[in-house]
Amino acid sequence: MPATPETAVHVHGVQEEYFYLMVHHCACGGPWLTESQHVEENGAHPHHRIAAHCFKCKARRTFLFTIDSQAGSKEPVRQVNQTAEPSRAIDVVEWMNLAQFYLGRIEHLKEAVEKAQSLLDARQCVEEALKFYGPDADAPPPAALWSDASRRKAAAQPGNFRRAAMVAMLEKIPSMDRLRQADKMEQREFEKGIMALAKQRVGKWWQFWKLLRRK
Ligand SMILES: [Zn+2]
Repeated sequence: MPATPETAVHVHGVQEEYFYLMVHHCACGGPWLTESQHVEENGAHPHHRIAAHCFKCKARRTFLFTIDSQAGSKEPVRQVNQTAEPSRAIDVVEWMNLAQFYLGRIEHLKEAVEKAQSLLDARQCVEEALKFYGPDADAPPPAALWSDASRRKAAAQPGNFRRAAMVAMLEKIPSMDRLRQADKMEQREFEKGIMALAKQRVGKWWQFWKLLRRK
């Protein structure tokens, strides 16, 4: 497959990049496996270039992201989008697909901290989906559905995309504070691991980490 011309996708943080790769599969339906990641300083908005190949058909593709410089500085690693601005990378149905994925995998997880992290991701995905809704809207606006697949799903399951249903989902998930508390220990371990890698200058992780910590 020829390389697709790159258009930078705006994201609020590194986690949104991973979600983007998760929901935008290869044309053959296969998932992307990342090979390398590079940070390119570009004024206030650094670019993040991810080279990937398809697990199924081996097609190669490079993804280019523009990262919100506001995101990530002193925030927890599992921070999707600390602004009220809706995503420009993932639409409302895709956020709800991600939420379902993170809720669905909980029963298969053994460690409490893994469950907390999965709930944290699920909660943030539902919150991202709700950011598309106007203050009085009960259904997602058409402008928040970006693909035929999303439009089909929203039309087929309108009940799942009503604000009340999504708020009810959030009410069943523990609060963000509680989940962050549970995730804190793991976060410290994560930071220690990344710093150790940084000292050894292993791969591109050092730059990746710098990006997360940038002010
Ligand atoms: Zn493929």
